[in-house]
Amino acid sequence: MQIIEALVPLRMAVERLRQDGPLALVPTMGALHQGHLTLVREAKAHAAHVAVSIFVNPRQFGAGEDLAAYPRPREADLALLQAEGVSLVWAPEVPTMYPQGYATNVSVSGVSEPLDGAARPGHFDGVATVVCKLFNQVQPDLALFGEKDWQQLAVIRRMAHDLDLSRPYADDIYGVPTVREADGLALSSRNAYLTAEERQQAAALPRAMQAAIGKLQAGEAAAPCLAELQQALLAAGFASVDYAELCDASTLVSLGAKGDAPARLLVAARIGRARLIDNMAV
Ligand code: AMP
Repeated sequence: MQIIEALVPLRMAVERLRQDGPLALVPTMGALHQGHLTLVREAKAHAAHVAVSIFVNPRQFGAGEDLAAYPRPREADLALLQAEGVSLVWAPEVPTMYPQGYATNVSVSGVSEPLDGAARPGHFDGVATVVCKLFNQVQPDLALFGEKDWQQLAVIRRMAHDLDLSRPYADDIYGVPTVREADGLALSSRNAYLTAEERQQAAALPRAMQAAIGKLQAGEAAAPCLAELQQALLAAGFASVDYAELCDASTLVSLGAKGDAPARLLVAARIGRARLIDNMAV
């Protein structure tokens, strides 16, 4: 497994790997868990080689967010990736990604505006910018992202379509279903912020979402279901709910009730030091 931190050796390594067949990229911010490793395994099923990027991207953190506190267990991450048979780890430092004078921003309108886009101004510009750069740096044939970050996946697909990217083509951006703990909580690097008690309380999030989905599927209007969901989270120990919305699964336009098109329930809520997000099909 090659661990690379500079662009010239990255280019050379990628050129060699591509001679064996398709190259897959799994972008991450590190602090790896089984969710990330599931993306790596899925990548291996589709490619000759898997590259994983580890980069805690400052541009996608807002003022007052957890950039400094974000866990960076580099050696443990590398050991996990080695055990998965990853060929290349791309782990640039911030000045390599954004050198002195860096001035370009990729901004996707529409799908990046509601939900996390409204709650975290600038977040999706940071995501689109770094993913565009990662695609240009690694030039993968395919890239894999978790459905855990549903809106992020929609933003990246929109960007790839709109910019006519070919490494990867938009159609070669794969979404992988969310990996969950036994009690339903989605795996997240940010779960590490939870105390034991908060971790138990956090299981109310997928539970309350399932309860709401049952009602939405039975044809109930979204507003009372979502109000009940918020109440359930606050009663379980969550401090606040950033949003809980029923949306069209691809445009993320807010819906008043479940219609014929695929819909998604998306929630962001705060508990202890953590802000947790989750989404499920309705
Ligand atoms: P992150 O390191 O949090 O930026 O995540 C890197 C990639 O892993 C993103 O595509 C995430 O959507 C994905 N991911 C994070 N958590 C999970 C999970 N529980 N299940 C599946 N994929 C995940």
